[in-house]
Amino acid sequence: MLNVTRYHGDQDKEYVGFATLPNQVHRKTVKKGFTFTLMVAGETGLGKSTLINSLFLTDLYRDRKVPNAEERIGQTVDIIKHTIGIEEKGIKLRLSIIDTPGFGDAVNNTASWKHVEDYIDQQFEQYFRDESGLNRKNIQDNRVHCLLYFISPFGHGLRPIDVECMKALHEKVNIIPLLAKADSLTQAEVYSKKLKMRDEIKQFGINIYQFPECDSDEDEDFKRQEQILKDSIPFAVIGSNIQVDSKGRKFRGRSYPWGVVEVENPIHSDFLMLRNMLVRTHMQDLKDVTREIHYENYRAQCIQNMTRMMVQERKRSNRSATDFLLLSFQLRKMQEVLERIQEQMQQSQTGTC
Ligand code: GDP
Repeated sequence: MLNVTRYHGDQDKEYVGFATLPNQVHRKTVKKGFTFTLMVAGETGLGKSTLINSLFLTDLYRDRKVPNAEERIGQTVDIIKHTIGIEEKGIKLRLSIIDTPGFGDAVNNTASWKHVEDYIDQQFEQYFRDESGLNRKNIQDNRVHCLLYFISPFGHGLRPIDVECMKALHEKVNIIPLLAKADSLTQAEVYSKKLKMRDEIKQFGINIYQFPECDSDEDEDFKRQEQILKDSIPFAVIGSNIQVDSKGRKFRGRSYPWGVVEVENPIHSDFLMLRNMLVRTHMQDLKDVTREIHYENYRAQCIQNMTRMMVQERKRSNRSATDFLLLSFQLRKMQEVLERIQEQMQQSQTGTC
């Protein structure tokens, strides 16, 4: 068979129309809408709820009840899911926020991340079941696409719980570490803490989300922006639920006796960089990595376990068939011996008569 692929130059091109393919894909996906699931973890009071509200300009935590110190001593990690629909220029996004109140709050936090890990696994399991079932067309994807992990600004780098938690989850979810409440640190402190945390992440072998490598034909400005993004990890963030009025301008910020902190000012924090990255530039990549790497790992593990179980089951049933044959053989032998004894008894009886 001859397989000819011919590319015409623009001058002698006959128009077929497949150039509209991206438009067709665009129309279809826009109609379907987009989904994204974001998880937040970190101890109570690090500003998780405030940051989520600031990121998506919502008020997700209106009915929230913060437990007191006594309640938190033996607290276990709850998993709470908030879902909101956001629409912008006709594009719909169903955003799910998975909150983990109680994380790192109890006196004994050895298994704080176990609930988080179980939750992520359950979503994979549900997807795996749905995918292998009959109604594959209408699968709801609840897999966790990204975990914003909040690190305290008051410690000296990562705490043991941060290391253990990130290590327990890094094969299952895209982790983006955040340096919380960055307005409580000076610029120099932010810089040195970031450096230390990046070193520790490397030293402890924690695989956080890796920004994709730029293609060589990408323009220089794009490459520079991507490098800045990589060098900013962990993003130093500030959140606020209130609008500040200062010098005739209104903005989300925090007002102190000595001045005002603007949440969206790139000089004050990496908040804008985080939001742009999450929403504008890397949302699809976070979903792709979840599907192609984390979910694939889970799926491969599942199939491996199932195959192992089937082999064991088959071995067991083979073994029971052999046991049955052996038993029948022994029974037959015993029967023969019995018959022979009976015959002998009969013979000896007729001999004595
Ligand atoms: P969560 O328990 O982690 O959800 O923390 P919250 O969002 O409820 O915030 C706890 C407290 O920290 C509240 O008083 C917030 O106003 C405050 N807070 C939140 N974000 C920041 C921040 O970026 N900087 C500072 N200084 N305080 C913050």
